[in-house]
Amino acid sequence: MKKKAVTVQFPTPLPAEIPCPICEGNKCKVCEKSGKIKLVVDAKVPIQKALIVKYVANNISSISSDLSKHYGLVPEIETMEVFEHPENRTYEIIKVSSLGGVVYIASRVDDVEGIRTFTTLKDLNRFKEGWYA
Ligand SMILES: [Zn+2]
Repeated sequence: MKKKAVTVQFPTPLPAEIPCPICEGNKCKVCEKSGKIKLVVDAKVPIQKALIVKYVANNISSISSDLSKHYGLVPEIETMEVFEHPENRTYEIIKVSSLGGVVYIASRVDDVEGIRTFTTLKDLNRFKEGWYA
């Protein structure tokens, strides 16, 4: 069986034409002798969810700015752990979670060293295991 596409209903003002309710289509002053009246109706238009996700993915930078501006959403930043690297170095791992994904920041706490960033848990774990110098 084919999987049905998930759709999301969006409110969309649509122009519509109805028979003139005054003259019932017989042409009067109100409908300017057309027998019809144009109006805008608040319709709901189904849009495939996959298209919305694609739009968000393609516009992640401006959408995340809008979310901060209009909804006060900001990335979640937390200290995930402090760990001892196999080469006797101590790092704090800071996790930054946002709409676009997660970034792990390794910051050395026992000495001065540039920060390292990892975009996958796999890479972070390899770093913790001592794969990277
Ligand atoms: Zn009319």
